Amino acid sequence: METPSTPDEAEPAADFFKPTFALILFLSLLACTYSGKKTGKEQALLRSDTGHITDEKKPLAIAKKKKARAKKKIYLTFDDGPNKGTKNVLDIVQEENIPATFFIVGEHVFASHGQRRDWNRLITAENIEICNHSYTHAHNRYDHFYELPETVVKDMEKTREILLPATIIVRAPGRNSWRIDSLQYTDIKKSKLAMDSLQKAGFIVMGWDLEWRYDPKTFQVQNTADEMLTMIDSAFAQKRMRYPNNLVLLAHDQVYHSSGDSLQLRTFIQKLKNRDDYELSLVSAYPAIRKHHLITDTIKTVAPAADTAKPVRMDTL
Ligand SMILES: [Zn+2]
Repeated sequence: METPSTPDEAEPAADFFKPTFALILFLSLLACTYSGKKTGKEQALLRSDTGHITDEKKPLAIAKKKKARAKKKIYLTFDDGPNKGTKNVLDIVQEENIPATFFIVGEHVFASHGQRRDWNRLITAENIEICNHSYTHAHNRYDHFYELPETVVKDMEKTREILLPATIIVRAPGRNSWRIDSLQYTDIKKSKLAMDSLQKAGFIVMGWDLEWRYDPKTFQVQNTADEMLTMIDSAFAQKRMRYPNNLVLLAHDQVYHSSGDSLQLRTFIQKLKNRDDYELSLVSAYPAIRKHHLITDTIKTVAPAADTAKPVRMDTL
């Protein structure tokens, strides 16, 4: 006779699972406890799915390093050459081995033997970029010049056609205006149409954020190298620039013709080089321009064909 089954028949199995479950629970607790007691190094070194050891702190470390490496950019630009100050400026930037951009006036290239010589040095120098600062510099009659937008475009195109075939970065004579995609600024409203015309013609118009000023009568700088550094620090601190963390500095070749002022320029550059938070760069690397479809990586130049123009005044802005 079969013994009727009773609920107690399940008990042997329960007796088997109880210690097993307890063992699993114990092992799990042990594992969790061990995990919680990992040393800093153990926590840092974890095995990834691929079996390689990875450093879980690494992304944070990289982010911190990147942040530390993110330097503020300064673009040194020199206007109105070639003129009697260009040689000194070129000597200094080459000896200090820094990038520098020269916005040249087309007719200055043909004005004298010395200016052609300096032009030939500019176009063969390394780490130098040459941009367009018009052909005539408006003959320093700015209001009249900007009344005729077509003339302004033709003046820029003349320098491009004769000297700078691939250069689209220009600076308008006597005006601090900007036309780089959506970066738009017009300092003197009467010039707006002319600036718009330059952009429509395919030019990038770059102004400046800070100027190393000079006395127009004596052509001597009005600020020392230390004062310029203070002004730069202040500009970055107060975010006084068209594009965040990128400062375009305007200077004029001619000013550094004198030994005293060229010494200030050299001192200024040496002090900038000693600053870990700043980095000097060419204007073609300006971030707003990098997004521009028309930028060309190489700014090409050509040698002057002949001494075709009359000597021109050097007292340009
Ligand atoms: Zn100028």
